[in-house]
Amino acid sequence: DSVSSIASRQRVSMKDNTSRSTATTALQEPIFPEGIEGCIGNTPLFKIKSLSDATGCEILAKAEFLNGAGNSPKDRVALSIINMAEDDGLLTPHSGDTIYEGTVGSTGISLAAICRARGYLAHICMPDDQAKEKSDLLEKLGAEVERVRPAPIVDQNQFVNRARNRAAEHTADPNRRGIFADQFETQANWQAHFNGTGPEIYHQTGGRLDAFVTGAGTGGTISGVARFLKPRLPKLRVVLSDPQGSGLFNRVKYGVMFDPKEKEGTRRRQQVDTVVEGIGINRVTSNFEAGRELIDDAVRVSDEQAMAMARWLVEKDGIFVGSSSAVNCVAAVKVALQMGPGHRIVTILCDSGMRHLSKFWAQVGPIGGKDDVTLDDVLNAATKQNG
Ligand code: PMP
Repeated sequence: DSVSSIASRQRVSMKDNTSRSTATTALQEPIFPEGIEGCIGNTPLFKIKSLSDATGCEILAKAEFLNGAGNSPKDRVALSIINMAEDDGLLTPHSGDTIYEGTVGSTGISLAAICRARGYLAHICMPDDQAKEKSDLLEKLGAEVERVRPAPIVDQNQFVNRARNRAAEHTADPNRRGIFADQFETQANWQAHFNGTGPEIYHQTGGRLDAFVTGAGTGGTISGVARFLKPRLPKLRVVLSDPQGSGLFNRVKYGVMFDPKEKEGTRRRQQVDTVVEGIGINRVTSNFEAGRELIDDAVRVSDEQAMAMARWLVEKDGIFVGSSSAVNCVAAVKVALQMGPGHRIVTILCDSGMRHLSKFWAQVGPIGGKDDVTLDDVLNAATKQNG
């Protein structure tokens, strides 16, 4: 009967748990992570069951939102930037030196948390159209936050330029020390993924994966992971997932940031026009260029697809993520369908939906409204925008 079958299933799962736990083995001297910096990296790589079942592929997600300082892959980058600056003698721990950065949020949050742990001040410049949760969180971490109007990169008030200028003003006084973190250009960014995310994926998959799919903001993740994995796995397909309005899709496909088929004069868009935060950009950055030649293909994802996927992941799997993670999952599915069943595809879950409640998630719509959503429904949400 059903009661005894539940009981026997519970026994099986308890047995499973016991065999996995170390409770019965001899106790070893524990090694504790040193502070929040010690909780960065070694994130789980888990199978997204609904997407794997629906595609016949193994779709694996690197749970980067579980990084323990600022809860995104940017923890790795922030730590790498700070360590490098300390090694170069530009920062001294517990000195009150100031770190300046232009960020849409994640890098700022990671920097602000690690700054607290290391005794630095964080000064963050970010566009004022990003979800308020991120600037609120920065303030709670004690960072100085300057919210600026979104502006093209040629404008000195654009968030990255503003941060660079603030750092220059600060360090013009010989009594004050600090750095501009410079996530878009610094080599410390892609190297953090070359030294961490890439090797972790390689080991967690036993060196067997067919595709790596992720979006790019700075490009640090895709370049660092591609530079680690490609020489070891020459058949690996590295695919960029790109939100609507971003020029990176064209950069991968045609080598230029605009679609060469578009008419002269309508080619360049100054702003990336999407509800997605953290990925998509219309300019060339050192971190994207560091790995661009290793990127085999690009997939465009519309806002509608991203929202449909975000809802799907909650409804089918209980996975609550932000907009860039949803874009990555749509692209992973598209790559799975292109490659056919039996392939193993790795993507990145960058941050939690908690950071996107007021903007992206406010548009996603109610959960549980339609319980018969299919993968086609998710993918067809795109045809409205991008085809
Ligand atoms: N997702 C989120 C939420 C981000 O903030 C960022 C970085 N801006 C990315 C993805 C993209 O990572 P990368 O900068 O390494 O390309």
